[in-house]
Amino acid sequence: MGFSTDAIHAGQEPERATGALITPIFMTTTYAQEELGINKGYEYGRRDNLTRAALEKNIAVLENGKYGIAFSSGLAAISAVIHLVKAGEHVIVTDNVYGGTYRLFEKIMTGFNLQFSWVDVSSLENVSSAIKENTRMVYIETPSNPTLNITDIRSTAELCKKNNLICAVDNTFMSPYFQKPLNMNADIVVHSSTKYLNGHSDVIGGIVITNDKDTNKKLKFIQNAVGAVPSPFDCWLTLRSTKTLALRMKQHNENAVQIADFLKNQNYVKHVYYPGLKSHPGYELAKKQMTGFGGIISVDFGEEETARRFIKKCKIFTLAESLGGVESLMSHPATMSHASVPPERREKMGITNSLIRLSVGIEDIEDLLGDIDQAVQ
Ligand SMILES: *Cc1c(COP(=O)(O)O)cnc(C)c1O
Repeated sequence: MGFSTDAIHAGQEPERATGALITPIFMTTTYAQEELGINKGYEYGRRDNLTRAALEKNIAVLENGKYGIAFSSGLAAISAVIHLVKAGEHVIVTDNVYGGTYRLFEKIMTGFNLQFSWVDVSSLENVSSAIKENTRMVYIETPSNPTLNITDIRSTAELCKKNNLICAVDNTFMSPYFQKPLNMNADIVVHSSTKYLNGHSDVIGGIVITNDKDTNKKLKFIQNAVGAVPSPFDCWLTLRSTKTLALRMKQHNENAVQIADFLKNQNYVKHVYYPGLKSHPGYELAKKQMTGFGGIISVDFGEEETARRFIKKCKIFTLAESLGGVESLMSHPATMSHASVPPERREKMGITNSLIRLSVGIEDIEDLLGDIDQAVQ
């Protein structure tokens, strides 16, 4: 089936009792058991919920995966993934990783004796030379946040296979519409569904997808044992959202391409980070492994004053954390998403005080360009 057909139908059948077309919100914490030891396969809401199961199936199909395991936030999903690694083991991570992931790994998981190497994984040699005897996982994020570095998923996954390592990919920025890491032999895909998957800035959620039966079993166990499950209502909203994922992603991409093109020609702009620009170091690779460039653009204005003025004067672009919603947002990574990253690491990553990240929404392009133009006058 095509992507949109799957998005609209996968995991969703008319409800058995009434024929209700839309998957109901099963608001129940428990299930009646007929006799001791006899039930319908459902016992307790933390472990099983039908609305959640429909969402898990739906997104798994979109990622071309067999299993989906949903969580109450993207970080809960990432936390479940890192629980696959045990004390004394080592993980190689994109040095440009989402700030919250850095915080979870470096400030929490090191306390459980997990070891991390922060590596520029856009070079395969760097990954290769970081592998140690106790390495268990390579965790990548591509495009990365906020400078949109591109990592070769296929060759990283191949290197992982050779060395018996788990290859995990955070696919939040692309969504399965533009990038399918499992098709490139990654073992695990993780999403903050808070972003494009839900896309309406009203649900915090996360999901992990895999093709491996054993990994799924472990993750299901972690989901139930650790307990960061999403509410049935949140699952229902996200399931409603994935139906329009293709339409939304097309428009995010179309608008972002035009905005990046516009910005790169302005003399008040020092640098535009967007994988759809030929000047982007990851452009060729992006064209190969993605079917679109996405809706995130980072702009370095060179002068902090210009960045401040831009933030102050924009009317449609709203200053706010997060990304991937239908409305256009902007953020200041140095003081917002990446505030927990030490300043010297930030500087190395290109996260200057004059850098602004745009999450381009699906409003009319003329209005978005007009907003940017008036903001810098
Ligand atoms: C937002 C985000 C996360 C964290 O997800 P939450 O839903 O906020 O917990 C992880 N990875 C990326 C790339 C993100 O953008």
